[in-house]
Amino acid sequence: MKPILALVGRPNVGKSTLFNRLTRSRDALVADFPGLTRDRQYGEARVGDRDLVLIDTGGLGAASDDVEAGMEDQAWQAVDEADGVIFLVDGRDGLSAGDQAVATGLRERGVPVTLVVNKGEGLPREATAAEFYALGLGEPRVISAAHGQGVVSAVEAALPPEPEGEEEPGEAPDAGIPVAVVGRPNVGKSTLVNRLLGEERVLVHDGAGTTRDAVRVPFERDGERWTLIDTAGVRRRSKVHETVEKFSIVKTLQAVDAAGVVILVMDAREGITDQDAHLIGHVIDAGRALVLAINKWDHLPPEQKEKVRRDIDRRLPFVDFARRRFVSALHGTGVGKLLDDARRAWTSAGRDLPTSDLNRLLEDAVAAHQPPMVRGRRIKLRYAHQAGTHPPSIVVHGNQASKAPEAYRRYLINTFRKHFKLEGTPLRLELRTGD
Ligand code: GDP
Ligand code: GDP
Repeated sequence: MKPILALVGRPNVGKSTLFNRLTRSRDALVADFPGLTRDRQYGEARVGDRDLVLIDTGGLGAASDDVEAGMEDQAWQAVDEADGVIFLVDGRDGLSAGDQAVATGLRERGVPVTLVVNKGEGLPREATAAEFYALGLGEPRVISAAHGQGVVSAVEAALPPEPEGEEEPGEAPDAGIPVAVVGRPNVGKSTLVNRLLGEERVLVHDGAGTTRDAVRVPFERDGERWTLIDTAGVRRRSKVHETVEKFSIVKTLQAVDAAGVVILVMDAREGITDQDAHLIGHVIDAGRALVLAINKWDHLPPEQKEKVRRDIDRRLPFVDFARRRFVSALHGTGVGKLLDDARRAWTSAGRDLPTSDLNRLLEDAVAAHQPPMVRGRRIKLRYAHQAGTHPPSIVVHGNQASKAPEAYRRYLINTFRKHFKLEGTPLRLELRTGD
């Protein structure tokens, strides 16, 4: 599981600036999917060789009305879910009462805090840090989020120690295909999971392998082994009377990360919502194979069916690679097909793409459609190789390769996707100038 860091602090101390700096490289990958809207509060980042989930909590310590106080509640919920907190203060404003209030809240929670003084460029380091010792949260680190100074070491200090022997998706074939069922509250996740686990003489070894709060439930279906990654407590809430757990986007993101393939459940009665689109964005961001389960398809009026199909085309054009299944978790229709789709997506995501095939395809594609000229010289794409799986990633090298326009990239992606029959998985393509 990737560790979660929450950014907290008063408004205007530079939280979004730091968030954007740390998650920017990820945005470049997401740019492969035009039309994808991002949730700017939750982001994936890579610092040094560590991957993490970053939460921008918005402002704390300055609430002046109920709405703001409500937002603060949400920020504190994020703090409670985090493995560590970066508490940002403003080195130009100096220590304020708002900072004191945030510090008190953090101390009460006992979560590990790294105190970081921002806007430190051009300021004397020790003198700038000095007054913040009074917060009683240890040594303040001075950084500049805008210019990048000190950012990496501050984040590294805030990360929990690296756990040993973590399994990457795809590295444990014996445990079966790791699958997560995610979606907004009430779309039918628990109903679906109970169907998956409960029918057709499914084998459930309970209590197997609990990583932090993730529960891994192995099950078998038609002789195939699977592992359900259940971080959101979906499985445990099997009875109607049990209290509905608070929907946690953070736990959802962790489940997505730990899974190899994600079944994303939506509610046909409600249509496609912003939150559905955001969740899908995170799945793509994490590079996971994906199946769309449009649930509650039973007894749906024909005009609503039409509307939902149209909505998907219109609102989710960036997931045209994913299978759509119209299902009823309640009645069990279409549910078996979901696992077939998930297996196919998983297999696609792990495919080895032979270098010889890639290069022949590249050659043919270039012959059929020359890349355009840039500054009077034609872009030359020379050779391709696979850089990884889960998701499949291809690197193409050449002269001015990185200047190739988006449309050409898409053309190549489609060519590769079609030839290798890559279904249900994002495909990453990097065009790299030089060798
Ligand atoms: P947030 O409200 O905590 O998310 O703060 P923002 O990231 O929106 O930043 C508030 C203001 O501080 C903006 O005008 C930023 O440009 C500025 N700012 C952020 N980081 C730095 C920094 O490292 N140095 C300086 N001088 N200004 C910064
Ligand atoms: P979760 O919060 O996503 O886990 O959703 P639940 O599985 O608890 O389902 C929420 C509600 O939707 C419950 O009342 C279910 O009975 C109902 N529901 C789930 N799947 C279906 C379905 O396929 N058709 C219909 N009509 N209702 C469903």
